Amino acid sequence: MKLFVAIDLEGICAVVSERDADREGPAAELARRHMRADLDAVLAGCLAAGAGEVVVCDAHDDGRNLDAGGLPPQVMLVSGGGGRHSMMQGIGAGCDGALFVGYHARAGTEAAVLEHTWNYKVFSARFGDLEVGEFGLGALLAGHFGVPPLYVSGDDKTAAEVRALAPGVVTTTVKKGVTRLCAELCPPQEARERMRADAESAVRRRAEARPLVWNGRPLTLTFTRAEFCDRAASCPGAKRLDGRTLKIAGETYEEIYLSFLTCVRLSDLEG
Ligand SMILES: [Zn+2]
Repeated sequence: MKLFVAIDLEGICAVVSERDADREGPAAELARRHMRADLDAVLAGCLAAGAGEVVVCDAHDDGRNLDAGGLPPQVMLVSGGGGRHSMMQGIGAGCDGALFVGYHARAGTEAAVLEHTWNYKVFSARFGDLEVGEFGLGALLAGHFGVPPLYVSGDDKTAAEVRALAPGVVTTTVKKGVTRLCAELCPPQEARERMRADAESAVRRRAEARPLVWNGRPLTLTFTRAEFCDRAASCPGAKRLDGRTLKIAGETYEEIYLSFLTCVRLSDLEG
């Protein structure tokens, strides 16, 4: 059995501040240690459930948050940024399930720790009436390859977002958002015991899980400012709907996902 794990930072145990999510500094160093400990807990659950191979994508920022040292021999770490599938680099048809660790709620969610969608320039991402964040965008790509989402860890708002979109997915809540930058933290050791047990039971029950299926609607991508949309609008195939909004169509979900990534990368460019 082969599993895919995408791991982000904002939904990791004890992470609450932008400083934790930075590339450098003591807060970032501590956050990365928590990230590795959360990963170790989930990997222990995966291996206990019989996983023979686990691909882990370091999905936060530039993808250089985790040290491969000491990982179990069944684990392959995808490290570094710019991969074709970005946060989902390593997903493919050969995987039996996808797990999402340290995930956060989509942009605009109230009382959700460090909420955003991909970068801080995206206001919303919707397929018709279905609004999605990073979990939805990634789980739909897994679905494109026939891979079901099995498990998610993060704050309580992330868990609610996941339940609404994919009701059968097992979630572990590791903190309760009070504001965007304040949370009630579960003691990490206690949270990790639940993570290990929840991930193990999610993987054991994978036969009941179903891939998330794209509803066939184009992506409506709204930025927070017209300036960001101006930059992204040069993406081939993107149609400008208004000052802040693009429509992105595609034959397959993967096509839309790749265009979305291009738009987001363009929106980050200066000048
Ligand atoms: Zn993220």
